This record gives sequence, C-alpha cells and structure tokens, in this order.
Amino acid sequence: MTYTMKEVLQFVKENDVKFIRLAFCDILGTQKNISIMPDELERAFENGISFDASSILGFMNVEQSDLFLYPDPSTLSILPWRPQQGRVIRFFCDIKHPDKRPFEGDTRNILKKAVERAEKMGYVCKIGSECEFYLFETDEKGKPTDIPYDGGGYLDIAPLDKGENVRREICLSLEQMGIQPESSHHEQGPGQNEIDFKYSDAITAADNLITFKSVVKAIASRNGLFASFMPKPISHESGSGLHINLSLLKNGFNIFRDGQDHSTDAKSFIAGVLDKILDITAFANPTTNSYARFGAYKAPKYVSWSHQNRSQLVRIPAEKGEYSRMELRSPDPSCNPYITFALILHAGLDGIEKGLELPKPVNSNLYITTGHELESLKVLPQNLKEALDIASGSTFVKNVLGEEMLDKYLEIKLGEWNRYIESSDKENIDKQMYFD
Ligand code: GLN
Ligand code: MG
Ligand code: MG
Ligand code: MG
Repeated sequence: MTYTMKEVLQFVKENDVKFIRLAFCDILGTQKNISIMPDELERAFENGISFDASSILGFMNVEQSDLFLYPDPSTLSILPWRPQQGRVIRFFCDIKHPDKRPFEGDTRNILKKAVERAEKMGYVCKIGSECEFYLFETDEKGKPTDIPYDGGGYLDIAPLDKGENVRREICLSLEQMGIQPESSHHEQGPGQNEIDFKYSDAITAADNLITFKSVVKAIASRNGLFASFMPKPISHESGSGLHINLSLLKNGFNIFRDGQDHSTDAKSFIAGVLDKILDITAFANPTTNSYARFGAYKAPKYVSWSHQNRSQLVRIPAEKGEYSRMELRSPDPSCNPYITFALILHAGLDGIEKGLELPKPVNSNLYITTGHELESLKVLPQNLKEALDIASGSTFVKNVLGEEMLDKYLEIKLGEWNRYIESSDKENIDKQMYFD
C-alpha cells in the first residue's frame, strides 16, 4: 500500500497517530530520525523540517548547517513495537537545501538517479537482499556481550535453535510494516540468523533493508538480546553477508529469465558488475572488519561467477521464471545500501552500454582450488585500505557519488583505518567500532 499526501493526513487522523518519525540515513547508512507531532505534518510536506546537518556524519559544516527533511508519503509505516494508542509512524525523507535543491549527500537520492538512468535505458531494476545477523546475550546492565544466544547451526531446530521466537516476532512486525517476509532460519554460526523478505524496486529494497535492521535491533532488545550486523563478529565462525539478488525487467520481461542462457544484456550487466567490483568494495564492505569475512564460510574472495557454486562472487541461482536473477555475494550488512545498490546498478548498466562480454564461469570450489585457475582471477581487496585506495582512484565511483561526497567518505573511512592500524588490540578496536 502506498499513500498520497492527502491519504497520509487522513491516516494520521483515523489511526490515533501521535508521533511522526522523519527518517533518513547518514553517509554510512546509519538511520537517523526526528519526531514531529501530527499538527506539523502539513508543514513538513510543504516546506520541510530543518535539522542541524553539521551534526550528521558526512553531511554539512558548521558554517552552512541547515538542511530540510521532506517526508516521502509512499513510505508511511507504523512502528508496531511502539504503543498502539498514540501510535508512532515513520517516513523516509528526501533531504534538501534551504533553496529546495536536493542535497548532494542524500544517498537515497544517489540511488534514485541510478534508477532513473536504468529507466531511461528501458529497465526496471528489482532487488532482494538476504541479510544475516547474530544474536548475542546481554549482561545485567543490558550491554552486549560476545556470548552467542545459542549454539545452533544451519537450519537447526529448537532447542538448539533458541532464536525461533525472536525471528517469529521480527517476521510479524515486518508484515505489519508492509514488508513481506518470505523465509527465516538459523544460519551456520552460533546465534546466527537470516530472515529474507520479498524483493522490490531498488529504492524500496534499500528502504526496507534499513527498516529491517531497525526491526531486528528493536525486537532483539525487547527480548533482552543484542543483534549484531557486524560482518565477522566471531573470528573463527561464519561471517554475516548481505547477498544482493538483482533482476532487470525490460517491457515487463525479466532479462535474467532464461536460466543458463541469459540474454546478451543480462550477461553484459553481470560483466559490468564484475568489471567494477573492486572499485565498489570500499562501499559494499566498508569496515575494517568486513575483510575478515572474505574467503571462508561461503563468502567470496575472487572475482568470478558460476551458476551454483557458493564460493564465487556472483552466482546465478537455479530458480526459474520470476525469481531468475543474479546474486552478488560480497556485500555485507555494514554497508550503506543506497550507495551500494547505486554503484552496482551503474556498473551493470555501463556493462550493457559497452556490450561487455561475460568471462567464462568458474565452477570449481575456490576454497580448495590451487594453481593456474586461481592465477587468472582478480582478488577482492584484502583490507579496507586497499579498497579505499582503489575507490579514491576510480573515475567510475567519482561520477556516481560526486567528488565532494567521495572525498568525505574517504576521509571518514581513512580515519577508521588509521585508528584500527594504530591500535595494539585489533580485534577489540574492531568490536568497539562496529559492534552495532
Ligand atoms: N554467511 C555467508 C556469507 O558470509 C553466506 C552463507 C549462506 O548464505 N549459506 O556470505
Ligand atoms: Mg540466504
Ligand atoms: Mg545465508
Ligand atoms: Mg544467498
């Protein structure tokens, strides 16, 4: 259900709404919000609600700090874990300058531009993400510990799986928020879980992922637990990935649909993503901890693709028809999905425009393959610094993000890298920085 502005005002009146959260993301994809009362909503739609952008990571400086939030009426959603009398609803917002120009650092707008480019080329992009996370116990003060909630493994059932009730609550909450859960299970690591929800257009998919993370956090916390989206919270266990499943519709037809024999454009799209994945990695894998995940437990290390093999960067799953797609397996849940989706989409569209040819699939298990098969493959960056260096020299990234935005991002991330490198206790500093 999507609402127009008029319907929203009516919804607020009829549903005992008392608080309206205007939500957006900072440059790193962390959700922020300001709450307004119902009487302010019309003003918000017309003139925006101002906030101090100099206090938001990667936004403005103190000299020039006012930005405005304009709620996007189509994103209305109730927060089901808040009181049901005097309800709380939430909108994602467009961020604008005082003169109503779109703000360059609004990553949602960067994704909108990528979607517009796809549309001009005749494509509608659909994205479904699979987001893994860990549940940890909390201590008597409610602070997170590094004790996993259970000792279960892949697809385990109770009593080994203790997460079933939490996953149930998350699925029910998502449903109430208009996000359709599709499946949920215990993942490979102890306390590790996955809940998959239905694919949608690229912007809704990124919005839904941001919503998903906040639902998981809120429900875990209500159950006295701590949910972590850190890519590799336990060094010798499975990491948490954010697989991105993507398909393209042309005149309503999914160009990934033909199973093994995709259309030339679908192949060129994948070739484009493979061609730019090194440039994208600093965004899809933005934390020092991200790089501990690569190369083990079904997380990729090499730039390659295959139909089935889960050690590869891109997999073309077996599903047919509507669900035919490509799956990119390198991203992790610490990324800003708006930037990551935008970069992937542009990379693929470049591939189509240039008519890039898809290299041959690599069907062997890359965790055990040695020798010349590996030598011909590019390797994903080994650490954040390497990824940042590639991004800083990339005209592709600069064109998508704009120079100013790229510089801000690199500055923040180089700061993180330096703190990490200077620390004598790397694992601990990683936890302090990203245990969220
Ligand atoms: N956890 C793996 C990763 O890091 C994925 C494993 C799976 O989905 N079966 O990407
Ligand atoms: Mg999955
Ligand atoms: Mg999984
Ligand atoms: Mg997957």
